[in-house]
Amino acid sequence: MIFFSDFDGTLTKEGRELTREFFDILDVIKNHNNELVIVSGRSLSWGHFFLTHFPLSACIMEGGGVILYVDENGEIVQEPLVPQSELDRLNAFTTNLKNHFPNIPMSADSFGRLSDRAIEFHLMEPELIKEVEDYMSLHKINYSKSNVHINFWAGEISKYLGVKKFMAKFRKDLTEEQCWFFGDAPNDQSMFESFYNSVGVSNIHHCLNDLTFKPRIILEGPENAGPKGVLNYIKNLNKRPID
Ligand SMILES: [Mg+2]
Repeated sequence: MIFFSDFDGTLTKEGRELTREFFDILDVIKNHNNELVIVSGRSLSWGHFFLTHFPLSACIMEGGGVILYVDENGEIVQEPLVPQSELDRLNAFTTNLKNHFPNIPMSADSFGRLSDRAIEFHLMEPELIKEVEDYMSLHKINYSKSNVHINFWAGEISKYLGVKKFMAKFRKDLTEEQCWFFGDAPNDQSMFESFYNSVGVSNIHHCLNDLTFKPRIILEGPENAGPKGVLNYIKNLNKRPID
C-alpha cells in the first residue's frame, strides 16, 4: 500500500509541530512494508530535507510541481513536472507582481522554489489578498491557499497530477484504489476531487465550508487531528485482511 500525505497540519500538529505520532507513522509504514510519499506545497528544498532525514524514497513538492526521488545510486533526483516555458513565465510574472505590489510578503523560501512561489497571506489584509488574486487571474497564473501560504504557478500543476505522474513512473503495478491520501486544507482539493481513497484528518473541519471538493472520508474528534488521525487510520487499514 502507498500512503500519500500532505505535510503541514496533516503530518504535523497544527501545522507547526513534528510530534511523536509522525515517527510512529514512519514505524508502522516500515513494519508493514507500506510506503509514504509526502505530497506538499512546501518548496523542493524541503523535499531534499525529507529524503535525507526520513526513511522515504520519494516525495512530491510544490503542490505537484516537482517530484524528488532517490535513484539506484542513492542520489536525489528532482524532476519538474511542467515545461521550462512555464517556469520562465512564472519568473517573469513574479518580477511584475513584486513591482505592482512592492510590499507583498513573499515567503522566505520563495528563492528555493522551482515551479511555484509563495506569499505569507496571514500578513496581508483581506482586500490586498483579493487584489493579488485578481492580478494573478488576469495574467493566467494559477494559485491556491494552504494552511500557511498562497502558492502560485504557471501551467498545469496540482497534487493530483503529481500523484498520477508518480504512479505512472514508479508504481504501475498499483491502481489508485489501492492507495490512500490524507489532507487537511484547500490545497488538497485536487486529491479530494479525483482520488477515490481520500481522507481528511479531523482538523479539516476548520475549513470544510471553504472546500468545493471534500474528502470522501472525514475523520472526527480531537483524537483524529493531524498525525494522530493518520496514525489511527493506517493502523486500522493494516489490521484489515487483504482482499
Ligand atoms: Mg496542510
